[in-house]
Amino acid sequence: DLVLFWHRRDLRISDNLGLAMARQRSPKVVSVFCLDPNILDRDDVAPARVTYMIGSLRSLQDRYAQVGGQLFILNADPRQGVPQLATALGAKAVFFNWDVEPYAHERDRAVISALNDAKIEVTTCWDQLLHSPEEIQSGSGAPYTVYSPFWKNWSSKSKAEPAPDLKTVEGLSDRELAEAQSAGTIALPTAKELGFVWDNPLMLDPGEQAAQERLDEFCSRAIANYRDQRNYPAQLGTSLLSAALKFGVIGVRTLWAATVDATKQSRSDETKENIRVWRQEIAWREFYQHALYFFPELAEGAYRKVLKTFPWENNETYFQAWCDGKTGYPIVDAAMRQMNETGWMHNRCRMIVASFLTKDLVVDYRLGEKYFMQRLYDGDLSANNGGWQWSTSSGMDPKPLRIFNPASQAKKFDPDGEYIREWLPELRRVETEHLIAGKIDDDERDRAGYPKPIIDHVVQQRKFKEMYQQQKQIT
Ligand code: FAD
Repeated sequence: DLVLFWHRRDLRISDNLGLAMARQRSPKVVSVFCLDPNILDRDDVAPARVTYMIGSLRSLQDRYAQVGGQLFILNADPRQGVPQLATALGAKAVFFNWDVEPYAHERDRAVISALNDAKIEVTTCWDQLLHSPEEIQSGSGAPYTVYSPFWKNWSSKSKAEPAPDLKTVEGLSDRELAEAQSAGTIALPTAKELGFVWDNPLMLDPGEQAAQERLDEFCSRAIANYRDQRNYPAQLGTSLLSAALKFGVIGVRTLWAATVDATKQSRSDETKENIRVWRQEIAWREFYQHALYFFPELAEGAYRKVLKTFPWENNETYFQAWCDGKTGYPIVDAAMRQMNETGWMHNRCRMIVASFLTKDLVVDYRLGEKYFMQRLYDGDLSANNGGWQWSTSSGMDPKPLRIFNPASQAKKFDPDGEYIREWLPELRRVETEHLIAGKIDDDERDRAGYPKPIIDHVVQQRKFKEMYQQQKQIT
């Protein structure tokens, strides 16, 4: 029997549960990926992200070629494309892995129903999470809305081993290949051909091999100091695996297995503790995915009542200055320029700029959330929305109001001004103390061609607190 595997956010052949199940069902597995216009035509797609995705698809095609298989590409809405291809190939069954996003739900239901109508079996499973949303619930059977009890439950559960890698598959006959072509399969286009231009290097090369090598490298070194180093944007003490996780270029069970090995090899409790902290970040990823799965309304707006109808000012000049890294606050501008130039931003800086946009500039977090999606090569609805709602104090986080002071953040996490100087070379000669405090006199700013602060943090944070209190009274 021929069976079809539909790749979505799992661009790999190793440790892929749905694919392993398809292979178990039949040696003749054919795979497909849809360039979905419902996603690619949206106005929040980052060229860097498409570039990483296309590169990973190219590498996936090579991987299939190595095991005798085939990855077809469709330039079509999966609701029509997947059933048509399955029918043209005479597939007996279609396999795919679930996703948590609201659009994915709707799309998958439609695909399943079309396949059922065509009398083609459908088998699905959870692959992108270590624990499915149904597995992690509170004692009363409700989904968690707070991270700490989620972590407690999640970390206490045993984790599955990586799924078996795909080793060999049966090739297609010429007739089957011709049928696939008649169902609209195309050669994989480049990102440029799809209209997305990104020429800068990415923080991680596309494809399974690069992701696996990065994981090995991280687990053999940086993970041992992760707890402290992860907070310093100049140090790059984190794994840089976010885009690989977003597109499933590496499996989460493989990630977990690597942490188990690293723990076994570690000689000190200190190292074990550092590994545990990294695991907590993996759990944050899962927490936000579970949250989006159970509360799809998170994608639309604030979770907390007090911020649902907040009177955001949305000053366009401020917003543009923020996007361009021209607010006059060095740590904020350095971070925005890092994202604009690399498609990635350090987590500490994501929190700083998100707090600045919402609390200092009084701009609706959804504008920032969208701008991040337009730039980040790891841009992911659940993590990005979770991060923005956390920083806005509009999400599930129990802490009522959180305002970051850019100067104190820079002092603590970029004490030598190394990160700021990297991304704002025009300020490299400014004395470190003044640089991190953002206390640069007007003449010096003029000489460097660097803007004056567009707002005063002290004034704005006072104002935001007042607005917040007022809002609390009326909601
Ligand atoms: P590491 O520190 O090595 O962490 C390992 C993995 O854990 C990451 O790759 C990621 O998959 C996951 N992870 C780590 N921290 C978080 C977190 N706070 N929330 C969810 N998952 C996490 N992450 C994205 O993957 N996509 C986004 O679009 C995104 N947007 C964000 C927006 C804001 C405002 C904030 C505050 C955070 C956002 N994050 C996002 C989370 C975090 O900043 C990135 O995952 C992290 O910086 C990626 O670098 P890394 O792979 O080196 O992470």
